[in-house]
Amino acid sequence: MSTLIVTGGSRGIGAAVSRMAARRGWAVAVNYASNAAAADAVVQAIRAAGGRAEGFQGDVADEADVRALFDNAEKALGPIGGLVNNAGIVGPYGRLDEAPVDGIRRTLDINILGSILCSQEAVRRMSTARGGKGGAIVNLGSIAADLGSATEFVAYATAKGAIDSLTIGLAREVAKEGIRVNVVRPGLIDTEIQIVPGVGNRLDKFAAAMPMGRAGTADEVAETILWLLSDAASYITGAQLNVSGGR
Ligand code: NAP
Repeated sequence: MSTLIVTGGSRGIGAAVSRMAARRGWAVAVNYASNAAAADAVVQAIRAAGGRAEGFQGDVADEADVRALFDNAEKALGPIGGLVNNAGIVGPYGRLDEAPVDGIRRTLDINILGSILCSQEAVRRMSTARGGKGGAIVNLGSIAADLGSATEFVAYATAKGAIDSLTIGLAREVAKEGIRVNVVRPGLIDTEIQIVPGVGNRLDKFAAAMPMGRAGTADEVAETILWLLSDAASYITGAQLNVSGGR
């Protein structure tokens, strides 16, 4: 059994990935930023079903936190064989010219730098060129990278565009070292990220207008991520897979 690190595993898509991964035989490191109760609920549900999991607090945008996350996960659960770069925030809502710079910076730091820092740690441990056994990385991008999220989240969409670039670049860099890197790009998915302070739940506004007439579920995204992590996807690297119901 090898260890899967799921950043932002406490809620939404990350929680769905954590639970599904444990059912498929991964030992799961459930990372979270501040919601210890939510992370603990995921860990307890996994253990109750007979799986292995531990919760680890840590800010993915902080280099020391990321190193500690990987060190502690490896110590508690065993060698790292997979990483899901899932932690993300949408940042300030509204027009770009009205967005505060600290909110923009935090959006770029968590989504882009966080994915880069975690990928560095994963490659250092998994690369066959460094004595590792190989593994897989799945990044959470977004179809916002194509749509641009005008009037809502342009900085976020910009960050997700960078995730597409990270995916293709890193995939090619480590392709001969036993590591595959892919990006899953969800559309409108029913999680708490849709609840925007002062605006409400974006699903109320947009779900019915989706091609399928509904938003997607976290489990529908998790299925795709688990498949990309598995040997069934052994010749897939550098790929972008939309899970967007045709949007
Ligand atoms: P969510 O329900 O808001 O959950 C976000 C998760 O990220 C939480 O577990 C949160 O931890 C964690 N997190 C936030 N900042 C963090 C940090 N600095 N360090 C570590 N963990 C942090 O979000 P979601 O909808 O599941 O989204 C997951 C990913 O999918 C994100 O990358 C998002 O951009 C992407 N995505 C989502 C959608 C969608 O429609 N939902 C669409 C496209 C892409 P706490 O519980 O401790 O706060």
